[in-house]
Parts: sequence; C-alpha cells; structure tokens
Amino acid sequence: MIVMKFGGSSVESAAAIERVAKIVAGRRRERPLVIVSAMAKTTDRLVEIGESAAAGRRAKALRLLEALREFHDRETAALGEQEILRPIFEELTELVHGLAVLGELTPRARDAVMSYGERLSSLIVARYFAHFGLLAVHVDSQRCMITDDRHTQAQPLDAPTRARMKKLAAPQIAAGKIVVMGGFIGATRSGVTTTLGRGGSDYSAAIFGAALGAKRIEIWTDVDGVLTADPRVYAHAKPVPQISFEEAAELAYFGAKVLHPATILPAIEKNIPVQVLNSRRPEAKGTRIARRAAAAGQFRAIACKRNITLVDITSTRMLMAYGFLARIFQVFAAHHTSVDMIATTEVSVSLTVDDTRHLKPIVAELQRIARVEVSGGKAIVCLVGDNVRPTPGISGRVFTAIRDVNVIMISQGASERNLSFVIAETDLPRAVRLLHEAFFK
Ligand code: ADP
Ligand code: ASP
Ligand code: MG
Repeated sequence: MIVMKFGGSSVESAAAIERVAKIVAGRRRERPLVIVSAMAKTTDRLVEIGESAAAGRRAKALRLLEALREFHDRETAALGEQEILRPIFEELTELVHGLAVLGELTPRARDAVMSYGERLSSLIVARYFAHFGLLAVHVDSQRCMITDDRHTQAQPLDAPTRARMKKLAAPQIAAGKIVVMGGFIGATRSGVTTTLGRGGSDYSAAIFGAALGAKRIEIWTDVDGVLTADPRVYAHAKPVPQISFEEAAELAYFGAKVLHPATILPAIEKNIPVQVLNSRRPEAKGTRIARRAAAAGQFRAIACKRNITLVDITSTRMLMAYGFLARIFQVFAAHHTSVDMIATTEVSVSLTVDDTRHLKPIVAELQRIARVEVSGGKAIVCLVGDNVRPTPGISGRVFTAIRDVNVIMISQGASERNLSFVIAETDLPRAVRLLHEAFFK
C-alpha cells in the first residue's frame, strides 16, 4: 500500500477535491491510504474563533464560525448532503459558547477547537470520492492516532497507533477500499482530543505509513516539490529532484514549511521513500526523499526562518566561570524555550530563539548573572547539503557571495549537513537571491 497526503490547498474546494479524486483513482492499484488536511485556511480560522470566544468576543466568534460553516456548505453543495456536517457544526457552536463562559483557551481546549478542520475535511473528501465513483470509506483518525497528552504538540504512541491502524484501516485497504482519514488530529488513550502541532498532517501520513509498512509516502501540496529555496522569499527557486532523508529533515527543521519537521523520522526508521508532489500539476516530477540521493552541486537547498530574536549574554564576572553555560541553558529550559543557534566566546554567549513568549522572565533571571541584550527582527539562513563539511573553502565561497550583507552570527559543525548564519530580516531576500545565484545556477 501507499500513503497519499493532501494538504489544505489541495482540498480547498469542490474543484480541488475533484482533482484529488482523479489523482487517487490513477493510483488505485497501489492501494492508497488517503490523509487530508483541513480545507484551505480552516485551522487558522478555528484558532481565531477559539481565541475570540475565550477573550469574551462571543459575537465575533459566532460570526467567524458562521462564515466557516457557509464555506463548507458551499463547497459541499454538489454532494447535496449538508446534513452530515450539521451535527459537527452544532457541537462546535456549543464549544464556542462554553469557551466564552470559561474565558480561557487552555491547550486542551485549543486542540478541541482545531480538530474540527480535519474532522470535517476527511468526511467531505470521503463523500466526494464516493460521489466521483471511488470505493471510499472514512476511518476516524481519533480512534487510530493515539498520542500522549502534550496538547498542541502531542507525540504519537507507536504501539497503540499501529494496533489501531491494523485493526481499523488495514482490513478496509485489503478489501480494496480507499481509506480516507484526517491528518493532524489524534486522541489520548482515554479519548481526549489532541493535535500533532501545526502542519502536522505530514507527520500523520508518515506515522500511518510506518504503521502499515507503506511502500511509499506521497505528500501532495501546492508547489512542484521541495524547492531550492522558500518560494515566498525567492520567486525563482527550482524543484530539487532528489534529496536524502537527513537533508530533508534539516531543511524542515530550519523552516522549509513544505514538510513538518518530524515527518521524516518514521520514514527513516522504516526506510520508506517520501515523494513530494504538486496536486495542481500532477505531471511534474516532484522530489524524491530517500536514504540515498545522487550527489548534486555544493548544496541541496537553502532554508530560512524569519522572526528570529538574538540574545547576547555577557558574564558580569571577568572570566566565564565553570557552570556558566549550564546555568544559562537551565533558565531557557525552565521556561520551555528552545534555543536554535549558539556562539560562545570566553565571556559571552549569543543565541537565537524563535519563540519569545517567555523571554521576559528569562531575561530577568539571566540578568542576575550576566548582562543581557535582546534584539529582534533577525533571520536564520541555512544552507543544507550532505557534503557541506568535507568541502574545503566552502565557507569562503558562501560569505564571498553575500559579502555586502552584515552577518551577525555563524554556525557550522554541529551537523555536517548545514552551514547557517544570522542576518537582519530585512537582508533576507537579498541574501537568498545572492546565494541562489552563486550556488544553484
Ligand atoms: P500543505 O498545506 O500542502 O501542507 P504548506 O503550506 O504547509 O502546504 O507547505 C507548502 C508551502 O511551503 C509552499 O507553498 C511554500 O510556500 C512553502 N515552502 C517553504 N520552503 C519551501 C521549500 N524549500 N520548498 C518548497 N516549498 C517551500
Ligand atoms: N490543518 C493543520 C494546520 O493547518 C495541519 C496541516 O495542515 O498539516 O496546521
Ligand atoms: Mg503543511
């Protein structure tokens, strides 16, 4: 069997779902398991609805909810069976009223609200498949994806998830049916709704694929595969034909939104190739991610992360006493804030974070032992390639290419596969263009 995952824009409308049905029909003989995201921007809307309700703006929340219902009704008009969606929207309306009364959106409640997107889309896509003549059946992800209870970032539990998939999905697939399931959502062992983190449908696809021993996992999206750079930063990025698991993991971690960072791990463990494809241009070759990838140029691709904050920490004692670094990282860990890049000298440490929610208390604590300076508006650029480190002169060529861009911090070495540096966010488009011209022409 194979897994085919379709992202939000691939199922954004009745017309898009019709394209998806044709793509799936063409793979019927490979016994596809279909995983879908919420339609278009539904998850963003749900977050807005939950936050508005909890902030006491009940009227606004209900207005947004009504718009979301109208959108789903309109796109399912051709099915003529809106009544399947009605109980789901009624439940969601009750939840919104509950949140307005409670006045808070706990992580658990946030998961409950966000789960409606995939609950709706998976039912809708299954119905459309049947409407277009495919032998399709809906399987409830929340009965299959069993996770821990870290709400909004839940981790799948392998053994129970595999057992449920074998029991609920595998027999249907074996019987020749096309199973349709929602990505992103799951439940704890006791049945409480969880989600795998934003963009998590890719992860669901990989977990389900690993559970059933898929021959291949296909990630269908709105671009021609993994591109040499983020197309929103550099419009002339080109598709990368093949790339290794490790390179893909590195790119995803450093901001290439095309894959959720955890997606590759289950595929690596079971050595399942992942193919990234464009649902609007199914004829395009896409990107093959596998254990080995034919050597390309110097780098495989450029990833970047915006909205990075730099924290400079200088010891107030003359020299860096032992334990200084440990104390710094304890402070970040205690506030659940992960650090992306680090550079150290004898008396100072510079590091970057992208989650600034807890920065105030972190800085307050650090100031007891050090001078601290915080500056926002930075970006990380990360050049990824399996043979970054073994190549002499490579950093020279990189920094020559961007010689008139002010580089604030550099990191190479932690991984053999990347060379990353920090610049001002305003320099990002120029830096990516210069690097692209130097290394991907
Ligand atoms: P989906 O809804 O299908 O999961 P996403 O929006 O999550 O789609 O991911 C696809 C988007 O990722 C692309 O439209 C593109 O803007 C962005 N992206 C960022 N970096 C890259 C990259 N290196 N290659 C391809 N896409 C990228
Ligand atoms: N719908 C979820 C999100 O928008 C999951 C996904 O699309 O992968 O984050
Ligand atoms: Mg995505």
